[in-house]
Amino acid sequence: MDRRQISYVKFILEAYDNVAVMSTLDSREAVIQVTIAPGCETMVDGIIQGLAGEIGVMPVEGAPAAGMSGKQAIRMPDKMKQVEIEPKGSLFQMKEKLLYISTIGCQMNVYDANQIAGVLAPMGYTGTDTIESADMVIVNTCTIREKAEQKAFSFLGRLAKIKSANPSLIVAVGGCVAQQEGDAILKRMPHVDLVFGTHAIFRLPEMVRRIESSRCRIVDVRMSDTIEFDAPVDGPLTDGQISAFVTIMRGCDNYCTYCVVPHVRGREASRHPDRILEEIRMRVDRGVREVTLLGQNVNSYGNKEGLCSFSELLARVNGIEDLGRIRFTTSHPKDLSDELIDAFGRLEKLCHHMHLPVQSGDDEILKRMNRRYTRSAYLEKIDRLRAVCPDIAVTSDFIVGFPGETDRQFQATLDLIETVRYDGVFAFMYSDRPNAPATAFSGKIDEPTKKRRLQALLDLQGRITREKHQAMVGQIRRILVEGPGREMESGDADMASSRVQWTGRSSSNHIIHFAVPEAQRDKKELLTGAFADIMIEGAYAHSLRGRLIDGPIMATPGKGETSVAA
Ligand code: SF4
Repeated sequence: MDRRQISYVKFILEAYDNVAVMSTLDSREAVIQVTIAPGCETMVDGIIQGLAGEIGVMPVEGAPAAGMSGKQAIRMPDKMKQVEIEPKGSLFQMKEKLLYISTIGCQMNVYDANQIAGVLAPMGYTGTDTIESADMVIVNTCTIREKAEQKAFSFLGRLAKIKSANPSLIVAVGGCVAQQEGDAILKRMPHVDLVFGTHAIFRLPEMVRRIESSRCRIVDVRMSDTIEFDAPVDGPLTDGQISAFVTIMRGCDNYCTYCVVPHVRGREASRHPDRILEEIRMRVDRGVREVTLLGQNVNSYGNKEGLCSFSELLARVNGIEDLGRIRFTTSHPKDLSDELIDAFGRLEKLCHHMHLPVQSGDDEILKRMNRRYTRSAYLEKIDRLRAVCPDIAVTSDFIVGFPGETDRQFQATLDLIETVRYDGVFAFMYSDRPNAPATAFSGKIDEPTKKRRLQALLDLQGRITREKHQAMVGQIRRILVEGPGREMESGDADMASSRVQWTGRSSSNHIIHFAVPEAQRDKKELLTGAFADIMIEGAYAHSLRGRLIDGPIMATPGKGETSVAA
């Protein structure tokens, strides 16, 4: 039995709300068991008949097989149906098709792109880097800022010409803009075939199948309160990767007044820890050394469902053999618990980096943003973090020009940056977003003022970052090597015969480029995906430069990075 066939059947069945695939039953994986909701038997029979014609699936009516009870949480345990797969071989000869995915936005979208590639792989879709060769183009969109949305529509507009030259091309739009705009995209763009929302990824195979067979146009922006992607998708894009994103939760319940996430990603829902660990182990088995756990607010992981706390989840992930490092993002300051802060002192695989978005340094603005913490409460948490983990790097997000922001309030933000001395920040000019309450706020700030404030903030942080980078010169940092980078420009005689520059990241998330001295060139083969110690020798605005020091190349991070004065 081909695993792709099993996956294909599972994906088709799971595309329906009232069907749940339970498990594969026998050692050859030739039988899978599903549960169906009362009243949906006819619908399931129809799906199975379709699959029978396509790949030879045969239904077998009967009681649940011995030993199956209690194996998984069953959402609708009213009736069991076994589906025995007897592949017809030739009927499952899939033509290889090429898929181009354009991803705009955050890490969540990058993760979703991998899931999309994973659910479409069993249908014969493999990735391509050229739009012109693609059988399907998916634009995975972001609506968090106006610019990201404009970029998506501009890219989609360019696809019209490509589609007119290749009418069989399937053009699909996913992500937050798809969720927000729905069928308005089909009306506005006649060359788009499919609009699918943030909760519809696992229904993609069925939708794509319908488009392939009947060239219909489909919109699916249905949302659900539970996470339905709990089966890890063996996506093709993880091959060769040493770092991977793993989504642990979806959606947000915080309703910050400038943000559209709760509207386009839905209410907060967490995955079961067992499924998360299963996915991480699968990725580690394929060579991943570092995972970044993703969620809009990982600090409230599991609260709603009564699962374990986020720090308990981190402890379990920390125990996974052969995993080297754990990162996570994003954390809401109001939910950053002492238990989580203490985890930085306890868990040796947890990287020494905290991204803690503050958005503004002024209490009145924070209140109008509905952030539900004060400047002093935020600063106290930073102090606690640094007490537990003195070398922790702290980064943050800022919005400048929020409606009503005065010069004095903006100064409070600059003052906060000076106080915290962040390692890096992301800063954006406020822009109105559909459905976000702040769109209706008075006191909108004009564009030149927003630009001026943004530049002042970036200039200040630029100076702090340079100073902090300079202070790292002479220290030894342990990095996870990501691979060879661009050619060396250094005139360093020792490096001259080793012109390839390598790149890695420290636990504190600093990007470090380094050269391998000629005397250590035998180590080059071992470098990618390994941990190595680098002496920092130079500082740039966004990265550091160093040299591989004489020492072991390690498969695991060992005791962590050291800071050694030169
Ligand atoms: S915490 Fe606020 S800014 Fe972050 S996703 Fe939720 S609503 Fe948006």
